This record gives sequence, C-alpha cells and structure tokens, in this order.
Amino acid sequence: MSTWKCPKCGRSFRKEGQSHYCGKAPETVEEYIQVQEEDIRKPLLRVREAIRRSLPDAEERISWAMPTYWQGHNILHFAAQKKHIGFYPGPEAVEQFAEKLEALGYRYSKGTIQIPYSETLPLELLSEIAAWCRETGHHA
Ligand SMILES: [Zn+2]
Repeated sequence: MSTWKCPKCGRSFRKEGQSHYCGKAPETVEEYIQVQEEDIRKPLLRVREAIRRSLPDAEERISWAMPTYWQGHNILHFAAQKKHIGFYPGPEAVEQFAEKLEALGYRYSKGTIQIPYSETLPLELLSEIAAWCRETGHHA
C-alpha cells in the first residue's frame, strides 16, 4: 500500500497531498467531525449514522486518519474532503454498486465513492453498501 506522509504533522495518508487538519490528530470519530468546518459537520454526522445503522457491532475508530468501522479488520472508512465526503468501502463494493452510483450521478473510482456535500445524501444507499460489506466480508 502506498502512503504519503505529511511533512508538517508527520501523519501518513493513503492519498498523496491528502487535505487534513494538521493539528493534534483527532482520536475519535466525534473529534474528527468536531474539527471540521461547521457547515459540513451535519452531513458527516448523517453519513456516520447511516453507516452505524448497518454496522451496529463494528468498532468506530480512526484509522488512516479517517473515521473507520472495524470488526476484526477495517470494513470501511469515510472522510471529509474539500468538496465531498469520501466513502471507502473497498473495490468489490464499488464494483457491486457501480450501476446504482452511475444512475444517481455519483462519481466513483476503485474503492472510492464521492458524495458531494448537499441536502440530499444517498443515506439509504450508504447503509445498503455497509450492510453488503458486513454480509459478504468484502472491505476497504
Ligand atoms: Zn499534516
């Protein structure tokens, strides 16, 4: 797995030049959401709820500097990007749901789905993807 290390705070990320908060690293998902700009906290909280509905037994933790759902391994992550929420359920999940994502007009690439910040978040779909990961064992 290739990683990029921020020269300022020394944390490692999966994506080169990943935008992030360079202060003390958030240690919980709550802290992670709290340090974001105010206007994106609500969509992040809603995405978090949608995931937790499907993964009630997963442990919530920060991994790769992202909110992560863990149950024996990292099941999926999400992250606050500048213009969208990154949702990372693994390449198999993205492939499985590609048609639906396409139909709804969401951008995606290998293992990554981009959810623009807006009033209409695809919460049902995110729950469905998380449940699919739980049931099939595919993961980020
Ligand atoms: Zn940094």
